[in-house]
Amino acid sequence: MSQDKLIEVKGLEKKFKHLEVLKGISIDICKGDVLAVIGPSGSGKSTFLRCLNLLEVPTGGQIIFEGVDITSKQTDINKMRQKIGMVFQNFNLFNNMTVMDNITLGPTKIKGVPKAEAEKNALELLGRVGLADRAGAYPIQLSGGQKQRVAIVRCLAMQPDVMLFDEPTSALDPEMVHEVLDVIQKLAQDGMTMAIVTHEMAFAREVASRVIFIDEGVIVEDAAPEEFFANPKNPRLKDFLGKVL
Ligand code: ADP
Ligand code: MG
Repeated sequence: MSQDKLIEVKGLEKKFKHLEVLKGISIDICKGDVLAVIGPSGSGKSTFLRCLNLLEVPTGGQIIFEGVDITSKQTDINKMRQKIGMVFQNFNLFNNMTVMDNITLGPTKIKGVPKAEAEKNALELLGRVGLADRAGAYPIQLSGGQKQRVAIVRCLAMQPDVMLFDEPTSALDPEMVHEVLDVIQKLAQDGMTMAIVTHEMAFAREVASRVIFIDEGVIVEDAAPEEFFANPKNPRLKDFLGKVL
């Protein structure tokens, strides 16, 4: 059912000078999919996510987003990027702005939403992640888990069609990991389409609808979570799971 396909990745390649990082990645992401991306350090996971919203420009292949080839020169990248939210390991909040201003900046400046409406929406979203009382705080006054929840809200405020998470809990103290994973799990339950690079295997097993293993720039396993973890086929995935589980 091609109308359900949100993102079609076809033979995606990325080279940095002579370093071939992605060597032909092909995958379809459908509406409501929660894709967990697993793999060793340096295998190309971040580069893959960054290519999906063109933070990195692919050197080969195609990315079709909602039927539009976003790798084509004619595409309005900025328009597309509004629909593809990204959450980073290190939050990337603006430290000189309050939580509220971090969240309303995109909607007001990029989408032209009136300030009062953007603020009302921000407060509602902050409430959903348990941070309604921190709107006036600056990032430095927040814990890592709170910062990441604000980063997720900032992303949600743009009403993206898909959210990309690059190791959203890797920079957090262990006791704060769950509060961020809980928010992501809630988004999944609400039907948000997501791709999540993560080392949290229990989370991937529980929340993902599908798990891929990237090794040396290639998807070497692509399966439903039960199958992926209980019956891995690729020898390098078996080895990897042996070390992390
Ligand atoms: P992962 O997220 O799986 O750890 P990355 O996608 O970050 O892997 O990196 C894959 C490879 O690409 C690594 O060898 C990394 O050094 C290299 N790489 C990533 N970004 C760049 C860049 N901007 N310039 C040059 N090399 C890069
Ligand atoms: Mg990475």
